[in-house]
Amino acid sequence: MSYGRIINKNMIISINGKIIDQKKACIPVLSKSFLFGFSVFETMRTYNKRVFRVVDHIKRLYESANILDMKPLWSPKKVCKVIEELTEKSKYKESRIRVILTQKELIIMVEDLKEKPASFYGKGVKLASYPGRRSIPYAKVLGDAFCYLANQYAVMHNLFYDSILVDPDTSYVRECSYANIFWVNNGKLYTTDKNILYGITRDTVLELSKKCNFKDIKLKSLLKADEVFITQTTSGILPVASIDGNKIGDGQPGDMTKELMKRLNKFVWDK
Ligand code: PMP
Repeated sequence: MSYGRIINKNMIISINGKIIDQKKACIPVLSKSFLFGFSVFETMRTYNKRVFRVVDHIKRLYESANILDMKPLWSPKKVCKVIEELTEKSKYKESRIRVILTQKELIIMVEDLKEKPASFYGKGVKLASYPGRRSIPYAKVLGDAFCYLANQYAVMHNLFYDSILVDPDTSYVRECSYANIFWVNNGKLYTTDKNILYGITRDTVLELSKKCNFKDIKLKSLLKADEVFITQTTSGILPVASIDGNKIGDGQPGDMTKELMKRLNKFVWDK
């Protein structure tokens, strides 16, 4: 089982609405986005060739820009138009779309979406814990090296799928480097709603679950939960089999996780 990320050499790259050869796709080294990581981004995906909740992704993109006090040249409407044009042109069965917005540029990368192996859903994934906080929790900022490091720590040696970020001052669990966390105890669903990125998949799961309770949880209590699962755009819901080597429940995807996976799967493919 391989957890690492691969950079696809065949992705379609568009800068400011024009498709550009990958070798020539550049941004100026003196731009603030390169010098300070001053740019925001979104990762989207298609189901049946249609971008899932594109309006919500774009809304979050501009909310992130607003948090940075960035005033992009590109308007949300134009960004949406370029994304849809590119996705229509792409010959991929399903696409993974990365949208980067700087003050002056709009960069979009479209690639073949590789679905996660069936075993990730059938058996669950292993997570590690990692101390630290995302510096701007409500924004999706490109220059967030902390998330990259936390994720690298996990995927190194193919041991873990991702890291759970644990606040070193409070010991509260927030989210993963690139996913939100839910847990189940005594048949009740929980997630945290503070100091996290409000995931589009998290939102969808909140809508699909009849009731979810908002609570903060410390890592040691999360380890004792009956079920844990994580959510993210490219993977949907992934059951968690273990954290730092400690089995969650009986180490198999739990009943509520499986039910929500079923509902989400139906929702995204039926739309
Ligand atoms: N938290 C963080 C820090 C993320 O980067 C992501 C991925 N965008 C998520 C949560 C999950 O959000 P979404 O469901 O929108 O992919």
